[in-house]
Amino acid sequence: SVEDVKFVYDFTEGNKDLKDLLGGKGANLAEMTNLGLPVPPGFTITTEACKVYLDSGEEPAALRDEVSAHLVALEERMGKKLGQADDPLLVSVRSGAKFSMPGMMDTVLNIGLSDKSVQGLAAQAGDDRFAWDSYRRLIQMFGKTVLGVDGELFEDALDAAKTAKKVAVDTELEAADLKKLVTKFKRIVKAEAGRDFPQDAREQMDLAIHAVFDSWNTDRAKLYRRQERIPGDLGTAVNVCSMVFGNLGPDSGTGVAFTRDPASGHQGVYGDYLQNAQGEDVVAGIRNTVPLAELEQIDKKSYDQLLGIMETLENHYKDLCDIEFTIERGQLWMLQTRVGKRTAGAAFRIATQLVDQGLIDETEALQRVTGAQLAQLMFPRFDEDAKVEKVGRGIAASPGAAVGKAVFDSYTAVKWSRSGEKVILVRRETNPDDLDGMIAAEGILTSRGGKTSHAAVVARGMGKTCVCGAEELEVDTKRRRMTVPGGHVVEEGDVISIDGSSGKVYLGEVPVVPSPVVEYFEGRMHAGADDADELVEAVHRIMAFADRKRRLRVRANADNAEDALRARRFGAQGIGLCRTEHMFLGDRRELVERLILADTDEEREESLKQLLPLQKKDFVELFEAMDGLPVTVRLLDPPLHEFLPDITELSVRVALAEARKDANENDLRLLQAVHRLHEANPMLGLRGVRLGLVIPGLFTMQVRAIAEAAAERKNAKGDPRAEIMIPLVGTVQELEIVREEADEVIAEVEAATGVALKLAIGTMIELPRAALTAGQIAEAAEFFSFGTNDLTQTVWGFSRDDVEASFFTAYLEKGIFGVSPFETIDKDGVGSLVKAAAEAGRRTRPDLKLGVCGEHGGDPESVHFFHEVGLDYVSCSPFRIPVARLEAGRAAT
Ligand code: ADP
Ligand code: MG
Ligand code: MG
Repeated sequence: SVEDVKFVYDFTEGNKDLKDLLGGKGANLAEMTNLGLPVPPGFTITTEACKVYLDSGEEPAALRDEVSAHLVALEERMGKKLGQADDPLLVSVRSGAKFSMPGMMDTVLNIGLSDKSVQGLAAQAGDDRFAWDSYRRLIQMFGKTVLGVDGELFEDALDAAKTAKKVAVDTELEAADLKKLVTKFKRIVKAEAGRDFPQDAREQMDLAIHAVFDSWNTDRAKLYRRQERIPGDLGTAVNVCSMVFGNLGPDSGTGVAFTRDPASGHQGVYGDYLQNAQGEDVVAGIRNTVPLAELEQIDKKSYDQLLGIMETLENHYKDLCDIEFTIERGQLWMLQTRVGKRTAGAAFRIATQLVDQGLIDETEALQRVTGAQLAQLMFPRFDEDAKVEKVGRGIAASPGAAVGKAVFDSYTAVKWSRSGEKVILVRRETNPDDLDGMIAAEGILTSRGGKTSHAAVVARGMGKTCVCGAEELEVDTKRRRMTVPGGHVVEEGDVISIDGSSGKVYLGEVPVVPSPVVEYFEGRMHAGADDADELVEAVHRIMAFADRKRRLRVRANADNAEDALRARRFGAQGIGLCRTEHMFLGDRRELVERLILADTDEEREESLKQLLPLQKKDFVELFEAMDGLPVTVRLLDPPLHEFLPDITELSVRVALAEARKDANENDLRLLQAVHRLHEANPMLGLRGVRLGLVIPGLFTMQVRAIAEAAAERKNAKGDPRAEIMIPLVGTVQELEIVREEADEVIAEVEAATGVALKLAIGTMIELPRAALTAGQIAEAAEFFSFGTNDLTQTVWGFSRDDVEASFFTAYLEKGIFGVSPFETIDKDGVGSLVKAAAEAGRRTRPDLKLGVCGEHGGDPESVHFFHEVGLDYVSCSPFRIPVARLEAGRAAT
């Protein structure tokens, strides 16, 4: 019942697994306490208490008494009372949520000091300066975080005191100076907050606790949580911790450290130390810290003890930890630890190092890395040693390092890139009309929009470097120029560099180095070789762990032999989606045009006859590249108008020609056809299986090309494993008709070539009706491939080409979804259809093969979902294959 709820835990009562309740800081302070490490005693007020306070505006009724009881216990233990005049117990009141939110919330040190107790502290410590320094710090921190006084007023006063005394650093201020500063600070508080700085210690503590609760809901904390996808209703815990003092002279100090290098993973001594200071000075950069290794000279005993503790922590947490510590007159105290953040590269290295140390096993190692980290390691990057001139910073929307000439419109981007130039497309924001330019560019830079803007979403989809929302840049597309802070103008053609991993924008060419991880996947660098990169070794081993563990197979979306070969090098176990529409472009467009314009059967058959050998050749090459592995070929899917000229352009051309009275017959026919084929909703129009059913001979030509190519490969002693996939089926009847025709053609080819072909025929499940009738459809399909892009569009009723630029930003901001359903599968909606269809299909046909070929196939979270619902494989773009392999392995642990 409510009365039994415990809102306060002594550090001796908690442990590291209670992060939900005690926050990360509190849980780990308890864990260290119980490990016997020197932690200053204290207690933690739970996140539950915070939630009650935030919901009702008042702290829970029982909290005050519970805090009192813990405070009394603490006072007894320490042998002094909070704020006691002759020998005050001082405490810090520290925020600490479940997930670390660096610098987002508040902490107040030295609570318990007052005009009276400052004297007591001075007498006890035998150090006036220290006592007054601590007091001015309290008023400063309390004034700022609890009473809401502008922190700069205190900073300015401190600076003024230093200037008056002609000293550079605060340690040179003497007791008398600090005493004056305290008077000044109290005056600032009175003037700004309209009240005196509270002299009662318990009042100080209670106000600070409330301030920490309140800091959960500051605007910057909310924004941070939204960006990091941390739920908004967790609340923060509050830690009340007895003070230890690093500002007691040169034999005292404070520092931070990592148990190993968070950038490389190397074991060693990494950290910073600051003599004669309190904790916040290190982060604030008030004085220069020294490398932790120097502590060995300053205080060998504490140094050795610290290294021992770091080893204890690593062995205990079995991971890299970061710590905060303070030395008070030669006595070491631990103030915080947590499993530390690290770079992507270090994550891989540390995971394998820990395996080698016998601390974790392969399964655990897989949990220590992510597909997103691997993806990060695969992008080329700027040479870290390069001289650069940074001119702006936007949102790191899609990682990578891109260099090129600035262009301000898509047309120029395409034109210049065709003539071999590398370009960066710079826009205020992009829209679907910029697609060509985005494809042609090395990278995309916009001055507006966030992580979900059109530019960001599309660039990520294409794996293209993108920095968006770089608001300091003034982009003037009309005059084809951009003005950077400081007034320098970048004209069209000037070289710029953008870093999609950091969001930074540079003038000029920053040298780019390829990622060693990609060199490794491409087979240009080998694990185990003498010169192999340490990172490559680690990635190699982790990939092997993942491959051993995973059940899901990973295929590639690839349309040509070149992509197929690369996919194979990256570990693809087949092609899950070969789009044939790409085989209808370029020189062949004319043939396709003729097919569409054909008035008679003969005309149509003639163009199909000419397309056949071309298609066949594509397939022969593809089957050869993927010899021995399955290749799923999707028959033509997009609406036909995509192969015809743009309606507006053509209308203008015809109108101009008519005005000149030399209209060309073919253009007129084309224009009629364009009008005839024009659809209001082409995505829901004549496409997919519907094309096969209304355009005689189209699908059978494609099937024939596949069958003949397979036969040719077999005759050449190859091992082609073609699978034919019918898109956009809504009902089994559609599939049956197409299937019957296909079977006939295959039989003909078998008879003509004398080669037995086992060509599986299956379908995409990408319409709700198909998913709902999957049991029936499985009668006519040997496999399903879930087309989760179209399925997401049709289940949500979202047009993918439009929504991301129009209202998705608002949806994401309002929290309607945390991530675009086109990026990560919507488990509850689209996902549940996938699951149900998979089950229904398998009931009809137990050996039904199940895969997915939407963008989701390479998305980490989605891969886990597809593993859970029992699919056989995911298919994704070649570059995403290692990510999918890794995540499939992680999903299986
Ligand atoms: P943050 O989460 O911002 O790091 P902390 O609560 O850890 O905030 O505290 C800020 C600084 O004050 C840290 O450097 C910490 O080590 C120091 N600190 C906190 N509590 C104490 C204490 N009881 N005694 C000495 N220093 C402390
Ligand atoms: Mg801290
Ligand atoms: Mg589709």
